[in-house]
Amino acid sequence: SHLVDRIAAGEVVERPASALKELIENSLDAGATRVDVRLAAGGLDLVEVSDDGTGMAPDELRLAIERHATSKLPNEAIEEVASFGFRGEALPSIASVARFTLESRVRGADGWRLEIDHGVPVGEGPAALPPGTRVRVEDLFGKVPARRKFLRSPRAEYAACLDAVRRLAMARADVAFTLDHDGRRILSLAPAALPARVAALLDSGLSEHGLPIDLDRNGIRLGGVVSLPTFTRGAADQQFLFVNARPVKDRLLVGALRAAYQDLIARERSPIVALFLELPGDQVDINVHPAKTEVRFADPQGVRGLIVGGLRSALDQAGH
Ligand code: ADP
Ligand code: MG
Repeated sequence: SHLVDRIAAGEVVERPASALKELIENSLDAGATRVDVRLAAGGLDLVEVSDDGTGMAPDELRLAIERHATSKLPNEAIEEVASFGFRGEALPSIASVARFTLESRVRGADGWRLEIDHGVPVGEGPAALPPGTRVRVEDLFGKVPARRKFLRSPRAEYAACLDAVRRLAMARADVAFTLDHDGRRILSLAPAALPARVAALLDSGLSEHGLPIDLDRNGIRLGGVVSLPTFTRGAADQQFLFVNARPVKDRLLVGALRAAYQDLIARERSPIVALFLELPGDQVDINVHPAKTEVRFADPQGVRGLIVGGLRSALDQAGH
């Protein structure tokens, strides 16, 4: 059954960045106002996430690492669930493929610690930490060579981790974030209004070469900032897309973006964007698969039309 667990785990946790994403989402779900991330060797040696959220009592800690144990079971229709996760799979999956330490403390109570080694509980006891939760993932896939060999260099894994932190930090501008990598402070973000958070995380040239977007059509809102056609990148790594405040990487949205800039920039160039699409919950399904962020729109043509048409006329008005 351990083998089955580990194969299944690969679907939720493919690499350090996917574990990191799940852990940060849990912190945000727990009402954290600050999230501190520490990585070593691109997350291959260590992924640690600390938060000041609600914390868990010792019995809740034990439950949290049991498969399909979630405190977030929806009592509404699935599309109504506001929290990031409701599947109860992330922690047990990660704990089955790493050395895993879970420490937590509820305000006004003592802290407790659980240690799991590749799915096997190896210890628990009192823990000294501030109210909140700290999760440490060491040696991810260390005993799962079939998975470990698909991991890339520390540098590439680090880039993916940084990307995950930036996307979630943009989705939740009201939350403070820090990121340390190999002992160096990489990001330190105080709670901010969205434009300030976006500015702190996107290319600084955007303050000069950016175009603010604020569109509304048939109950669908598109806000954020896009770069003018004169300010582009060779790669699409500076495109941050959100649907109802959740980071997504969606084909339709990326395609619409490309279409909006068609003929304005060279084919191999990409605009720098942070775009926030907001639409009623019954118009969109974001929870398609745990490890992917696919989005299903009730009216894909309408969404595409808003992005292509809206951005196009905004760029026109800006003189392009
Ligand atoms: P899910 O998020 O889908 O419920 P997880 O495996 O990610 O499943 O987490 C299992 C449970 O552990 C959560 O439902 C939550 O009750 C608890 N939990 C996980 N991380 C935290 C955290 N950082 N703070 C408080 N509770 C947490
Ligand atoms: Mg979760």
